[in-house]
Amino acid sequence: MDEIVVTPLREDGPDWRATDEEVSLGAEVWVNGRRMPNVFDLAAWFPAIAEDGLAPLFTCGCSIFGCGGYNVDIERTPDAWVWRNRYAPITRSDFAEWFGEPIPWDRVRPWLHTPRDDGSSRILETFEYRFPWDAVDAITARLLGELRQFAARYPDRRLVSYGGWDLSALVR
Ligand SMILES: [Zn+2]
Repeated sequence: MDEIVVTPLREDGPDWRATDEEVSLGAEVWVNGRRMPNVFDLAAWFPAIAEDGLAPLFTCGCSIFGCGGYNVDIERTPDAWVWRNRYAPITRSDFAEWFGEPIPWDRVRPWLHTPRDDGSSRILETFEYRFPWDAVDAITARLLGELRQFAARYPDRRLVSYGGWDLSALVR
């Protein structure tokens, strides 16, 4: 099994998106003692623990997924939350447009492993991490608690992730 550490939530967002209406929240994710590159997008955590498939867990420093960032391939097994590989930042709507909905990940995965026409790869890094569910569930519970604290601290502002996604449904 592998070790995942998520640092406490803090106010974290690109300067250009700092507004009086929003509070942008983020954290760092460390796996086996290495900080995962680019910027963790908190909003992607919650769907990724509930659903298999490519998840946009890390975004660009400018906050725009697609400019930078990457997908991680998620599989939920009975004993572990499995992360496989860093893939080029293709959006869900692009996958849906190209492959249809619900997105057939069993067809998308082999396609991701086929080089582009110019010979370049859509795979940015290969790995397989297996995180025990008790550790993942503890992190999720802690993140939700921290989100509620921010919601109480900023009752008149919208909580968003680094990528700008609304988090308020998680704290209702
Ligand atoms: Zn960027």
